[in-house]
Amino acid sequence: MKPFLETAIEFLSGVGTERAKLLREEFHIKTYGDLLQHFPFRYVDKTQLHQISGIANVEGDIQLQGKITSVRLIGTGRAMRLVAEFTDGTGAMELIWFKGIKWVQPNLKTGIDYVVFGKPTNFKGKYNIVHPEFETAESREKKVSTALQPVYSGTEKAKAKNLDTKAIGKLMNTLVLQLKGQGHVAELYGSDFREKNHLMSREEAFINVHFPQDSQTLQKALFRLKFDELFFIQLRLLKLKILNQNKFKGAVFSEVGEMVNRFYSECLPFELTGAQKRVIREIRHDLGSGKQMSRLVQGDVGSGKTIVALMSMLLAVDNGYQAALMAPTEILAEQHFSNISALLSKLNLHIALLTGSTKTAERRILHEQLRTGEIHILIGTHALIEEVVQFQKLGLVIVDEQHRFGVEQRAKLWLKGNDGEVPHMLIMTATPIPRTLAMTVYGDLDTSVIDELPPGRKPIKTLHRFDSARQKIFDFMKQEIALGRQIYVVYPLIDESETMDYKDLTDGYESIVREFPQPQYQVGVLNGKMKPQDKEYEMQRFKEGKTQIMVSTTVIEVGVDVPNASMMVIESAERFGLSQLHQLRGRVGRGAEQSFCVLMTGYALGQEARTRMETMVRTNDGFEIAEVDMRLRGPGDIQGTQQSGQPIFKISNLSKDGQILQAARSTAIDLLTDDPKLEKRENALTKHHLVKEMKDRPNWARVS
Ligand code: ADP
Ligand code: MG
Repeated sequence: MKPFLETAIEFLSGVGTERAKLLREEFHIKTYGDLLQHFPFRYVDKTQLHQISGIANVEGDIQLQGKITSVRLIGTGRAMRLVAEFTDGTGAMELIWFKGIKWVQPNLKTGIDYVVFGKPTNFKGKYNIVHPEFETAESREKKVSTALQPVYSGTEKAKAKNLDTKAIGKLMNTLVLQLKGQGHVAELYGSDFREKNHLMSREEAFINVHFPQDSQTLQKALFRLKFDELFFIQLRLLKLKILNQNKFKGAVFSEVGEMVNRFYSECLPFELTGAQKRVIREIRHDLGSGKQMSRLVQGDVGSGKTIVALMSMLLAVDNGYQAALMAPTEILAEQHFSNISALLSKLNLHIALLTGSTKTAERRILHEQLRTGEIHILIGTHALIEEVVQFQKLGLVIVDEQHRFGVEQRAKLWLKGNDGEVPHMLIMTATPIPRTLAMTVYGDLDTSVIDELPPGRKPIKTLHRFDSARQKIFDFMKQEIALGRQIYVVYPLIDESETMDYKDLTDGYESIVREFPQPQYQVGVLNGKMKPQDKEYEMQRFKEGKTQIMVSTTVIEVGVDVPNASMMVIESAERFGLSQLHQLRGRVGRGAEQSFCVLMTGYALGQEARTRMETMVRTNDGFEIAEVDMRLRGPGDIQGTQQSGQPIFKISNLSKDGQILQAARSTAIDLLTDDPKLEKRENALTKHHLVKEMKDRPNWARVS
């Protein structure tokens, strides 16, 4: 027999074929269980009475009790409205109706007590509620209090077919009545575990989330369900990690040899920061352990990840292995190649570059040299993970700016080892993500954070200016150029194929050239559609200081390093997301000079866009920016947390539930430390559920 919760939704009384279709299409609800997991997105609190004198301090809907002192009709025809003066002894306000006047008016009596409910707004210093709910205090007392009322989100289509929050509540009621006390909601933990972690029963939690007894019980219910959701994700990631570490051997790089030592003493142009040293130590520890390393290095733009990558690769070479560095774009791969070649010029190593535009003949030679082991370090784009590329002895793969690489591409890398050894993997990202998200998306990786910038960097000054200030900005640019600095001017290019964006770029370029004429000024231009050689040519001229201004799309977003560029002007900045703005800004502030970033926007800015601009002006801290970004967009929109359009989280919110997540993770760690295979009898329920989850949701993590 099928478990009760897997019953198709059309069998629920009140559903039927058409509603079932609607529930499926609008809310992905196919079964009783799906309905039960369709959670309210907020609750209306009718447990509290507010006072008019304190209205200014509450947000959203409020409930008041008081008397109506007068009722009058104002205006005529369509402009007619009904206004009731309402007082509760602490102040007075207006209740207003534009519709349903005929029905409402006879029900408003002066002198008796009413309870009214709605959202107050302030109009010219006086508060009012438009279309409040109301009833006499007497009738309200007779009813059983519904306390906190759940509100379910709806879609236009569902509402149009009368499937609104009330209707969903009704279905939920039917379901809960059938399920209560029947043991249909499986418990997931042994009773000791539940007691220790203060978890109410899962059935009680579900019932209270939909029909809260009171707000305290609701909090407990929410905690329980969020904990379950986050706990099993963590359990799964941690199990995966243990599994991988036991399954795969990693090459042992035990020796710090000639290359590392000579690089350190002869080639390193600066002192490493404390954070760089710490992360290199963490990596060295992994590489010497005999287990396969899967480590994520998070470091804000400019924190110096390249050196960390480089020294890890030298460690591989010292131990007789090859290393590969994979970058998301050709520009970046080429830049890494030339930087790294320059840094290692004294060491007499064979370093090669392989990208999509490497010529066939050259490629053939490269392939051969990789197979014979002649090449020590290979740098390239994803071209280097194609199947034809075979290594003699690949020991370490570094993936720079990971968010551009898919899981599948990474999986290909695993096949490139030899003798049952899997290459160590180091993933570097300059897109800081909030800690809670990192714990979830990369929960199976070890992580290191470079949380310190090289000394002497001055924080970038960020300004927000409206388009009308353009001439002033041009003058500012001229001053900077006169001081010998270089400037990026960036245009949004959300979609490479959008002709309109290209027009913006072209127009922008022309106006810059008009304002900054030759021969006094040289202006370059860069976009994603250009041929690689042309891009390279333009980048090279900019690097060499032959052009002072680079007009560009976001192709310069990732990793491009020109220390003399100390100013960036971002056009239509409101069209960029926060993390992208932060990435772009990271292209300046790389030298010793004071750097500037100017965000240009129109006057008409939405609330969210304004928050983005303010955040950029306020802080240079990538992690703080990531937090705000997650709050604005919700974690579901951030890379890696969505699968096939469905958010991973049904009830948790990573920007608010950090503490629950932390608790879930450490509880999962404790559990696995005590019982790695979940063999103990008291963990049987937990194991059973974990296995089921893994079958149902095979591959949810790290989709990016
Ligand atoms: P990112 O982390 O953004 O990849 P890079 O590795 O490109 O940063 O480094 C940014 C700049 O800082 C480079 O010009 C690099 O040479 C320089 N740099 C890195 N580490 C240090 C250091 N410890 N001291 C001084 N400069 C450094
Ligand atoms: Mg970098």
